[in-house]
Amino acid sequence: ARAAALDVGTGPGATADGHRVPLLANIGGPKDIEAALSCGAEGVGLFRTEFLFLGRTTAPSEEEQEAAYRAVLEAFPHVVVRTLDAGADKPLAFLPPPDDEPNPALGERGLRLMHSHPGVLTGQLRALARAAAGLDTELRVMAPMVADVAETRSFVAACRAAGLSSAGVMIEIPAAALRAADLAAEADFFSLGTNDLAQYAFAADRQISGLARFQDPWQPALLDLVAPAARAATAAGKDCGVCGEAAGDPALACVLTGLGVTSLSMSARSLPRVRAALAAHTLDQCRRAAEAALRATDADGARTGARAELPGLE
Ligand code: PEP
Ligand code: MG
Repeated sequence: ARAAALDVGTGPGATADGHRVPLLANIGGPKDIEAALSCGAEGVGLFRTEFLFLGRTTAPSEEEQEAAYRAVLEAFPHVVVRTLDAGADKPLAFLPPPDDEPNPALGERGLRLMHSHPGVLTGQLRALARAAAGLDTELRVMAPMVADVAETRSFVAACRAAGLSSAGVMIEIPAAALRAADLAAEADFFSLGTNDLAQYAFAADRQISGLARFQDPWQPALLDLVAPAARAATAAGKDCGVCGEAAGDPALACVLTGLGVTSLSMSARSLPRVRAALAAHTLDQCRRAAEAALRATDADGARTGARAELPGLE
């Protein structure tokens, strides 16, 4: 496995003509550092902090959180941490949703849950600020499940109050993608969560296997939400990464690059093939692949159309 990883190189992500696309890893905690490094991750694009809180009836202390955050921050030059995304598909025992919610995916979850538990968010932000103190690592912090400008503003303010200089939002609710320009005026960066974005765009629960076809990240309607978010970020001079499953598909990684996405974060094992796919195609080819995917009327058509512009992908 090691030789295979070396075959495609572990250098920085870039297209054949040198357009840089940092290739980052999705991790759940310090246990995932080694795999990310061995696959050549340039940093972490999504640290899902829920894993530190799993199976517990009380929140981990700020000291315990700080130690876990510091271990990750010491291992990489660039880390994006997502604040707690509890609820729906990520239930946490110590933060149960109100039990009269008939539809938890549309309920108090992610950042929304922090309104009723503000101490959990501020404790996490304080632990992060302390963990980063004295390190050269670039720490960015982002909130999950942000719907509008008001939520963006309050999250950015909470980060600033904790002394964190880079505060971003995940774009994973269609309303946020549609009004991305408004959100880009408030946030320091975006990260597109294509898993939830698909769930909410298609009104199809991501946990129901019978509805799995709606999770296909090649659906033109999903790409129609990605494109304006990337455009709004570019216009505002801010980064717009992708950290959903879409980023780990080599051809789709090229399409996302063509749409203007600025970094890609994925499971570590997907990094080598994505790196190779980007290195084999120019930015212009990626743009043409993106146009072809947007012209399609369904996911299969988008895949076929994009691949025709990206020769050599298996
Ligand atoms: C997403 O929704 O695409 C995402 C990256 O976050 P998660 O899968 O953890 O909800
Ligand atoms: Mg999500």
